[in-house]
Amino acid sequence: MLNLFGHTFRHGVHPPESKGLTEHVPIRRMPFPKRIALPLRQHAGKPAKCLVRKGDRVERGDKIAEADGYVSVPIHASAAGTVAEIGWWPHPDGSMVETVVIDVEHYSPQIPRPRMVPDWHGLTPDQVRAAVQEGGVVGLGGAAFPTHVKLAPPEELPIEWLLVNGAECEPYLTTDHRTMVEYPERVHFGIRIMMQCLGVKRAVIGVEMNKPDAIEALQRTIPADLDVTVRGLTVKYPQGAEKMLINVVTGREVPSGKLPMHVGTVVQNVGSIATIAEIFETGLPLIERVVTVTGPGVRRPSNLIVPVGAMLGDVLDFCGGITDDAEEIVFGGPMMGSSQPDMRTPITKGTTGVVVLTASEVKPKKTYPCIKCGHCLDACPVFLNPSQLGLLAQAGRYDEMQTRYHLQDCMLCGSCSYVCPSNIPLSQMFALSKSALRKQAAAAPPPPPKTEDEGAEGAKVA
Ligand code: SF4
Ligand code: SF4
Repeated sequence: MLNLFGHTFRHGVHPPESKGLTEHVPIRRMPFPKRIALPLRQHAGKPAKCLVRKGDRVERGDKIAEADGYVSVPIHASAAGTVAEIGWWPHPDGSMVETVVIDVEHYSPQIPRPRMVPDWHGLTPDQVRAAVQEGGVVGLGGAAFPTHVKLAPPEELPIEWLLVNGAECEPYLTTDHRTMVEYPERVHFGIRIMMQCLGVKRAVIGVEMNKPDAIEALQRTIPADLDVTVRGLTVKYPQGAEKMLINVVTGREVPSGKLPMHVGTVVQNVGSIATIAEIFETGLPLIERVVTVTGPGVRRPSNLIVPVGAMLGDVLDFCGGITDDAEEIVFGGPMMGSSQPDMRTPITKGTTGVVVLTASEVKPKKTYPCIKCGHCLDACPVFLNPSQLGLLAQAGRYDEMQTRYHLQDCMLCGSCSYVCPSNIPLSQMFALSKSALRKQAAAAPPPPPKTEDEGAEGAKVA
């Protein structure tokens, strides 16, 4: 049932929505470019292990890298062609990553090999999870966390709710919006499979109320035998953050350091759910995704189905190129996205959008000292003290940021940076601090081995 009243959380910000350029533009397919670049690291967890060599011929949908462990997924060729090189290549996160580059076959009809379509009716939860992992599915909302892991909560944490994240609160982006408008039945089919796999009876789709056509399409197509509610959410940033969505829909709060499953919920992005549905409709793995290409600096703003691995330059060329006053190109969106200086950078599974900004939208680079205005404290949706965290980050006191000021709860949403009158790049500093802590943890020597007695005691306590 449609809930007409907005639901929201405390704090947050209201950046201009800027979705008008593409919110009513239908999704269309981008032609295959001449080359694609498939990084082996496109998901959270361990990078995939390469299975091909230079000179190998691959068909569209063939596996070119396999999952390396449980928190990992395989990568598939998004176009038929020949492996031209395997080497270091620019990645959207700014690093160089081992990448398989494929010369796309110009005259190939790009028809994938015939494949078995799994019949979801007869599958056990384990078999569904295996099919989802084998399909290379990750969260398409940006975090790229392997989806099969979310489908496997431990037995002692029963799941009551499946929350489908259709908030899409980042300015400019309309990827999820158009997916919900154009493929609502597919979203419901994906929900059905996830509900069966998780054993949950209730699902809620949260959609910000600036997408009335998406709410209407989803509402109109709810299958009679599924307990699915479409919930209209107040337009506020970051409404689509997992913890915010859970709080707004269920009234529950995810404690510090815990996961959605600790409060009986699994949250999945609407695009990932549509991808799960596709696996059980066509058998095809995740080899393409919907990407919004937009901003005042792009000549033909569009919503595109893009082969994973298509390079930034090719995507922009297909959209008419950039304007003379284009200042910055961002993957993801202006609040959480990352600036892209290299046109060879590929669209990965986690790329939600390409936003081309002109000078008036780009924050001035010059920063000033903190004036203790407190705006960042009022903006932070998880009640951190970004001002204090910023000072500690500048001083390199990362441990203190974690132990005393709860850096682990920071979602890197960018609300604090957005409101800061001193232009301090707070969330970028927190991202670097988190990365420094991760490196520190990885470099720490392992704990000394336990004696036999200690080991026995440990086993008893456990
Ligand atoms: S980036 Fe972190 S500290 Fe800043 S507002 Fe978001 S959650 Fe709070
Ligand atoms: S918003 Fe900026 S200037 Fe104001 S308290 Fe926070 S860090 Fe300092």
